[in-house]
Amino acid sequence: MGEVVTSLRAFLGGHALSLLGLAGALLLLAAWQLWRLRRGRQRLRLRLASVNSELTDLRGRDPLTGLVGREGLEEALTQATLQADAHRRRICVAYVSLDGFRSINDTYGLRVGDAALRQLADRLSRWLGTDAQLARVGGDEFALFFAGSPAELEARVPALQRLSDTPLAVESQSLPFGLSIGLAMYPDDGARPRLLAHAAMAMRAVKLTGGNGHARYTPDMGASHREHVELLQELQQALAQGQLQLVYQPKVDARSLQVTAAEALLRWHHPRRGLVSPAVFVPLAERHGLIRPIGAWVIEEACRQAAQWRKCGLRMRIAINISGLQLRHQEFVPQLLGSLRRHGIPANRLTCEITESLAIEDTPATREAFDRMRKAGLHLSIDDFGAGFSSSLAQIRRLAPAELKIDSGLVADIADNEPARGVARAIVEMAHSLRMRVVAEGVETEAQRDALLALDCDELQGYLFARPMSPTALALWASGEGAGTDSAFRPSLFEPTAPAQLS
Ligand code: C2E
Ligand code: CA
Ligand code: CA
Repeated sequence: MGEVVTSLRAFLGGHALSLLGLAGALLLLAAWQLWRLRRGRQRLRLRLASVNSELTDLRGRDPLTGLVGREGLEEALTQATLQADAHRRRICVAYVSLDGFRSINDTYGLRVGDAALRQLADRLSRWLGTDAQLARVGGDEFALFFAGSPAELEARVPALQRLSDTPLAVESQSLPFGLSIGLAMYPDDGARPRLLAHAAMAMRAVKLTGGNGHARYTPDMGASHREHVELLQELQQALAQGQLQLVYQPKVDARSLQVTAAEALLRWHHPRRGLVSPAVFVPLAERHGLIRPIGAWVIEEACRQAAQWRKCGLRMRIAINISGLQLRHQEFVPQLLGSLRRHGIPANRLTCEITESLAIEDTPATREAFDRMRKAGLHLSIDDFGAGFSSSLAQIRRLAPAELKIDSGLVADIADNEPARGVARAIVEMAHSLRMRVVAEGVETEAQRDALLALDCDELQGYLFARPMSPTALALWASGEGAGTDSAFRPSLFEPTAPAQLS
């Protein structure tokens, strides 16, 4: 201010610095200051308005994928349903979740996880084209809708499902994945406010049956979702309440029919629901962080049982199933070795069956776990081989398991389907050239057994020989006439496991 007055004085120069002149000058100055202030405020208002609009956009859009978020989708869906009502049209909603996203994040870290999500968002956008709205509505969840009839929905969904046929590719990693897709039609499957929730429920129903598939909403899904939550709460207590049990299914030598090993399979004796299949509760335990305590119990219990059998002179190998989530945990191998030590079981008498799926992705963590287990002397087996995500020969060589188990799906076709036989032959030859043993699982008929024998399979397992049975029944079976004779099939004391009826 002082500077301005000085310069005003200079400006007025030699003019008489009359009181009036100075007052006029000060008035001018005040007016100018006022104008500056107003202009500043206006600029600030303009800037705030633009920042606000940027913020609104950020709130509405997902910064990772650039897609709108749930709020944006809900708004667009409301508009679309109003239009659909006016034109008597229908709307198809799909809720899509990336199966196994958690293990991608756990294994490769958040950066790769983020890139995988961006890539999936790209694939979905390209598949949808411009006539639809796509949003990211949760961590690994996307939702989309487009105008169309149930027939149009049915026609488009297979292509959506096939987006998961090609693994995602991030930083030279190939990431196989599945898509669980829940579908709902407007107005058939619910009023506007429930539409997304219903599609999400259908998606969860798909996950519950193993994922990578699609289902349209049905009203009973609400009930089964509640049952699902209830089942999870009960599973948390099942261990403490002694409701879990292991049953054992023998593997037999293909030629001598002698028992080579017994595979431990989990059973949940639910007080109300009866026998709940591991196909239902193991994926549930994996998704909700319960697989580690359950897996630790399986290891301890199988070792305890093996020790008891050894005392009675039954010295067969014990096989346990390992979830990929357990495998990657640092404490897994020490825990396994601890149980073996406590029960005096040599490491090479324990087979670890690990499913050939995303779980045995060729990652440093998986390789390290395989190395550590192999070095500890454990016998490693790759389960469900040939079921889907077929590993490369190079990967199998790197993991160097001792055993491959041919998937039961392939075994089912082996007797009367030449291409299936061809695949099985190639697996056996490849495994033998790498000095691995080949076990065929799910052998139910003599024709299958003969075909597998002709292919030079080493071990067989399936209902033709024995069903999973209690430890006592297995001890009787193994020491009796069941094994080693031509009429090898003996019904076990156990019924086959049926999935729990979720009414
Ligand atoms: P899996 O490891 O592939 O086990 C083979 C499944 O096929 C078992 O079902 C077995 O009872 C059944 N099976 C055996 N022979 C035949 C046959 O001849 N015909 C037919 N149709 N089925 C046969 P189960 O016991 O219901 O187990 C299902 C899956 O649950 C297992 O598949 C395994 O992936 C998982 N699981 C079981 N126990 C455990 C466990 O302790 N830990 C983990 N992580 N997973 C487990
Ligand atoms: Ca198995
Ligand atoms: Ca299997």
